[in-house]
Amino acid sequence: AAASAVRSVTVLGATGSIGDSTMDLLRGARDRYRVEALTANSNVEALAKLAREFGARFAAIADPTKLSALKDALAGTRTECGAGESAIIEAAARPADWVMAAVSGAAGLKPALAAVDRGASVALANKECLVCAGDFFMERAAKAGACILPADSEHNALFQALASGDRAELVRVIITASGGPFRTWAPADIEQATLEQALKHPNWSMGQKITIDSASMMNKGLEVIEASYLFALTPDEIDVLVHPQSIIHGMVEFSDRSVMAQLGAPDMRIPIAHCLGWPDRIVGPSARLDLAKIGQLTFEAPDFARFPGLRLAYEALRTGKGATTVYNAANEVAVAAFIAGKIKFGAIARLVEATMNDWIRTGNRAPLVSADDAISVDHVARNKAAALLPQIALKAT
Ligand code: NAD
Ligand code: MG
Repeated sequence: AAASAVRSVTVLGATGSIGDSTMDLLRGARDRYRVEALTANSNVEALAKLAREFGARFAAIADPTKLSALKDALAGTRTECGAGESAIIEAAARPADWVMAAVSGAAGLKPALAAVDRGASVALANKECLVCAGDFFMERAAKAGACILPADSEHNALFQALASGDRAELVRVIITASGGPFRTWAPADIEQATLEQALKHPNWSMGQKITIDSASMMNKGLEVIEASYLFALTPDEIDVLVHPQSIIHGMVEFSDRSVMAQLGAPDMRIPIAHCLGWPDRIVGPSARLDLAKIGQLTFEAPDFARFPGLRLAYEALRTGKGATTVYNAANEVAVAAFIAGKIKFGAIARLVEATMNDWIRTGNRAPLVSADDAISVDHVARNKAAALLPQIALKAT
């Protein structure tokens, strides 16, 4: 009976790439899900269109100047409207059984926590919020009885593979990486890579920020940190393996040397469908995996020298006490500066490293215990990264 009951769902970041995949899955099962709330950053039209289509009870736009535009766009419907950060948090706090956290960046932290605190099932795509608040995020979820379902493809793979054994039997997890568009590039070419080149991901279609993070492998760095916090793993228990076809998403090695892997086409609707159905499985719309057609799966060791963002992630994790918050914040500043044409591609990792080193030298390092703690370290790191930006931009390699 419980399985056939209508579930209420909320999608934070409904107009983004993950939001789009999520809405697509919901569209395919209209009789099983009811939409409580939808949110977006500033695209009123796209948000209103979804709210109308799904009959959402609440729609929230982060841009505080767009409340009247949203109300106009939803005139004649029963959808309540809100604007500003508080409205995004309200959307997350409203009663929905299942919440997709798919805002991009640390801006998604407070909304994700609002869903966590009321004990919802939270499908977590927004890795930056976990990296920013890793010290307390999972503990807080456990306290509230919230179920965190990893929506990131690698972590979803690990979540599925981890069910084959228990913690004492686990040896390590392996996160795969496509290697991104610069996998085979020489360091000098990576240094000079353009925005257009960085936005050409070989396998996945994703939002702009994560696509640039994939090119720098900062995304894999964030994912190493994400895995550590999600599954309480030490840095030594997490390996990265380059796998250009993106068919195997994650593996878990157990003490008897069995290695369990999850496979699937590179389609985010697969891990999201797993989160939506959990603990059951729903019928997904994605293409079936045809390994004979794919022919071969290949693997390479990651190159920490050409992709220093990966090395820095392990350093941040070993340093702890806010270092991963700094890693993420500096990277957000660096990516925005790269998009704005202020720094070269190669300077992204240099800015993250300089910000981390400065913080390790001068910062007040203590375990983070609240969202305010995490956000204050995030702000300090953003200011520091912005201050270091001009000299990093000038530095020749
Ligand atoms: P995106 O840029 O396509 O979408 C981001 C969404 O968040 C949009 O709806 C946008 O309106 C909203 N948003 C942005 N800034 C906001 C703010 N300050 N306040 C409120 N809302 C805001 O990004 P995406 O690719 O969908 O990624 C979303 C998250 O999922 C990221 O954390 C990313 O790392 C993670 N993720 C994405 C993929 C993927 O395939 N796209 C895979 C794994 C993990
Ligand atoms: Mg991923």
